[in-house]
Amino acid sequence: SANNLHGYAPLCLGLEDFYTRRLYLRIQDCFGRPIASAPDAWFDVVERFSKDNNKTLNRTSNTTKCLNLGSYNYLGFAASDEYCTPRVIESLKKYSPSTCSSRVDGGTTTLHVELEKCVADFVGKPAAIVFGMGYVTNSAILPVLMGKGSLIISDSLNHSSIINGARGSGATVRVFQHNTPAHLEEVLKEQIADGQPRTGRPWKKIMVIVEGIYSMEGELCKLPEIIAICKKYKAYTYLDEAHSIGAVGKSGRGVCELLGVDPADVDVMMGTFTKSFGSCGGYIAGSKELIQYLKYTCPAHLYATSISPPAGEQIMSAIKVILGEDGTSRGAQKLARIRENSNFFRSELQKMGFEVLGDNDSPVMPIMLYNPAKIPAFSRECLRQNVAVVTVAFPATPLLLARARICISASHSREDLLKALEVISRVGDLVGIKYFPAEPSKQ
Ligand code: PMP
Repeated sequence: SANNLHGYAPLCLGLEDFYTRRLYLRIQDCFGRPIASAPDAWFDVVERFSKDNNKTLNRTSNTTKCLNLGSYNYLGFAASDEYCTPRVIESLKKYSPSTCSSRVDGGTTTLHVELEKCVADFVGKPAAIVFGMGYVTNSAILPVLMGKGSLIISDSLNHSSIINGARGSGATVRVFQHNTPAHLEEVLKEQIADGQPRTGRPWKKIMVIVEGIYSMEGELCKLPEIIAICKKYKAYTYLDEAHSIGAVGKSGRGVCELLGVDPADVDVMMGTFTKSFGSCGGYIAGSKELIQYLKYTCPAHLYATSISPPAGEQIMSAIKVILGEDGTSRGAQKLARIRENSNFFRSELQKMGFEVLGDNDSPVMPIMLYNPAKIPAFSRECLRQNVAVVTVAFPATPLLLARARICISASHSREDLLKALEVISRVGDLVGIKYFPAEPSKQ
């Protein structure tokens, strides 16, 4: 796909080739390596040029200025910010870009200690541990928490980093139907009869893993129901808030705040800093004992270089803005804005006749394309009209459930959104993806 910003490009090219029977063999060699001369972009090279936010980007391939509807920059912090940026620059001078040391070998600065306290307080847990990468947070933590003789029950649409961690843990893994508490209960019942497993020794422990907002579906987790079931069957809960922390809830504290769940009822809270906070890295928050245990045992804490200090400063500064501790109401405005923007965009798309997945308040909104052949047509036509969208297909989604995935930001203006809607509507007619009758205009 010509405008894919998140690494699904190889796949989209592959599918396009499948339909046009042109390029498939030419874009990969026999080892599956990309061949640089393949027509179209492989991974687009993008260049930011707008100072206020990242709503626009410059594709070096044709230098088109585009409205960016694909970034996870939910609160607009992935840009120069009057509060965050000067502090990040100061931390760069004070600590340098890297500690060049692991956490236990001189890589724990005062900033790291402050950061972990700040994150724990923000998510409402007694303690937290941070890592340099969100993906690694899931894939390195799960093998420490779970192992042979324990059971992981994972939502069928959980992220690749969770799948990776679950598989690497050596635990038995069962999958429940996406966001379906009744099926989760069925799986649990099947595994536990009268408090005992049907086969073999009792499970050492059982962990249910879910996400706050599902990144390919835009759907909020049915967290209260899932927690009630976990309590009933004495299973631990693991919640990945990559797309929800900072983005939803009255004060940005994620799905727990939005859905009225006490964070104490979630055993392991995980999240990333790469979305709402405009930084990088990930965290695990939980009880003091849990975090202490992870600090002594997790290889990604013991053997990996600690998170870059300026990235850590960006996270703390963004949290301060969100909470109004910068002395302004910008944080509250950003939270109100992302909610308003998301709900406006979703309802306008629906009125136009698109099938849009996900829940209100979620900034992630997939527009269903279904037919994989429509992926390149939709994304290229949008790009031609200066709107960059991300398209997603197999294996990130089931084969015939291809979609365009729009991510809305607090930094999109109403004018941006109206322009995007106009383009998407035109392209939707062209490609034939308005599956419902449009609502008549109220004027
Ligand atoms: N968990 C989920 C649910 C994700 O969507 C992602 C990536 N988007 C990650 C974890 C990995 O986070 P990161 O990109 O910060 O490494």
